[in-house]
Amino acid sequence: MLIVQKFGGSSVANAERVFNVAKRIIETYDKGNDVVVVLSAQGDTTDDLLAKAAEINENASKRELDMLLSTGEQQSVALMAMAIQKLGRNAISLNAAQVGIESTSTYSNAKIKRICTERIQNELDRKNIVIVTGFQGINKYDDVTTLGRGGSDTSAVALASVLHADLCEIYTDVDGVYTADPRIVKDAQKLNEISYDEMLELASLGAKVLHNRSVEMAKKYNINLVVRSSLTREEGTIVKEECKMEKMLISGVASDKDIARISVIGIKNEPGKAFEIFSLMARERISVDIILQSIGRNNTKDISFTVHKADLKQAIAVLEANKERLKVDEIVFTDDVAKLSIVGAGMATNTGVASLMFEALFDAGININMISTSEIKISVLIDEKDVEAATIAVHDKFRIAHLSMKA
Ligand code: ASP
Ligand code: MG
Repeated sequence: MLIVQKFGGSSVANAERVFNVAKRIIETYDKGNDVVVVLSAQGDTTDDLLAKAAEINENASKRELDMLLSTGEQQSVALMAMAIQKLGRNAISLNAAQVGIESTSTYSNAKIKRICTERIQNELDRKNIVIVTGFQGINKYDDVTTLGRGGSDTSAVALASVLHADLCEIYTDVDGVYTADPRIVKDAQKLNEISYDEMLELASLGAKVLHNRSVEMAKKYNINLVVRSSLTREEGTIVKEECKMEKMLISGVASDKDIARISVIGIKNEPGKAFEIFSLMARERISVDIILQSIGRNNTKDISFTVHKADLKQAIAVLEANKERLKVDEIVFTDDVAKLSIVGAGMATNTGVASLMFEALFDAGININMISTSEIKISVLIDEKDVEAATIAVHDKFRIAHLSMKA
């Protein structure tokens, strides 16, 4: 079998952990498998490098940031190759340029376009364990790019896809995908399996366990994907197309504090206003999430929407710059908000899921600012200070609902 194994930063944080991972890799290799390993930077290296850059220039160019950040992964792969060699097996480390991981040119958020398999295949044929840097690519100018925070998962799935791997294992510091963040919800349950679609929603809605683009790619190429811990022998969570698992109402609760809400107040109640506002956002490449428009009254209406926290300043700046032209009374904003979401394929076929969620929030005395739904998810915007309490209340409500469904 050909197996791709990806290890996150915490799994390779220090020498002891590097050896722990090296031994697990060797176990797989000694069973006669071809093994391609993808690594993240050790521990907090990426954050530390970002802090270092900020000390020098808080407006550092994205090209130079990528040049800097990509060194974190390069350290990991070299150290891992050394560890494996010390344990008496053949290993070679390769960076994105050496493999030929071609990406788009957008620094700090590049997308993988093509991967050459020749070099990796040659090394596998020589019975090497091949260790590849996650998170990085090389663009058409031969510059190093990075794939966005958490992007090593995507590197691993992309490699699994082009190499036609039999399995892609994502090793992290938790046992798998949980019904909620186990640090917040004490009785969160590990899921044995989850569908690509549910995982994609959870990853996009703030569950940090997998990079959302890795899930998108795994679904597209039907990759056998498993999330498991590098520190225990637990089975982990299988991410796949269809789940045979008994239909649960929801499979998880996720939250995202990195969002902000903007309200444009006193807009003329006539056609084309939403178009004007959101085309401004689109032109700035600011992605907009939940949108709410009030009913017109006294010939005016209000539009509220959420953006990523990092985009708030820019969004306000363009709105203010166009305030006269848009003829609006007021633009208000806050970043003290968070999005709480529930995800579940079971929602599509069960009624009453939304009301259970709203009841849980009501019982906990938490006010809902905005609501948005899709076929398999419901999101609400709440005050940031309420996130933990809301997560626990909603998780508890569905845990009890599931118990009574089984009874
Ligand atoms: N080291 C990068 C980060 O911290 C990429 C990754 O870990 O996936 O975001
Ligand atoms: Mg990660």
